[in-house]
Amino acid sequence: MISYCRHTHTHPDPKDKTLALEIKDLTVFYPGEESPAISQVQVSVAAGASLALVGPNGAGKSTLFKAISGLLPLRSGQIKIFGHRLQECHQRVVYLPQRSDIDWHFPVQVLDFVLFGRYVHMGWFARPQARDVQMAMARLDEVGGADLQSKHISKLSGGQQQRVLIARALVQDADLLLLDEPLNAVDSRTRDVVARVLDRMKANGRTVLVATHYYDQEEGRYDGAIYLRDGEQCC
Ligand code: ADP
Repeated sequence: MISYCRHTHTHPDPKDKTLALEIKDLTVFYPGEESPAISQVQVSVAAGASLALVGPNGAGKSTLFKAISGLLPLRSGQIKIFGHRLQECHQRVVYLPQRSDIDWHFPVQVLDFVLFGRYVHMGWFARPQARDVQMAMARLDEVGGADLQSKHISKLSGGQQQRVLIARALVQDADLLLLDEPLNAVDSRTRDVVARVLDRMKANGRTVLVATHYYDQEEGRYDGAIYLRDGEQCC
């Protein structure tokens, strides 16, 4: 049991029927824009499910993930995470952005970059404890990146960047993972790592949504798909 801001939780029981994610009538505008980036989206995701989020570029996949993780304000609609408003349990959601959204010239070594994933638990002004470092090293090892720990993030290849990003997401130990195009332009080793991580998340009862361009090739990996086009759901 972990305590946060007067709220406590345990990781969800896979038999628990609470929805991991429930979205009703969600509409999101970017500041200054006259038309919505996504409109009237409805999503229900059972705890422990793994779903693909499918749609062409500009369909609204990243916008949906950013809204779920609290990075964009909602114009209207509602998002519930394990039955709670996002503000009450933001530490249970982790968003893995696209590699292109990260400033890879930020002056930080890989281990410290991965440790950023622990700050949601530690608070921004606390120093990482031995346990946090151990967790970060274990997650780096899991993605085949233990030897990268002292490397500056600007020196990583595309596949290494993706694996380090995955380690940073895993170290948060969240229950709902939102992975934005983790397979975009990566090498086969990184593809294997992503596949392994998804399998492990599923086996552990975590809920995973993956924005992907490769759904045709990976359909068997997911329990289903959510389709977006021009900011609206379609099938
Ligand atoms: P996808 O992830 O499916 O490629 P996005 O969520 O990035 O789609 O984009 C959905 C819509 O929102 C597109 O019309 C895109 O142009 C617009 N959009 C994305 N980011 C911004 C932004 N920062 N400001 C204004 N409009 C944006």
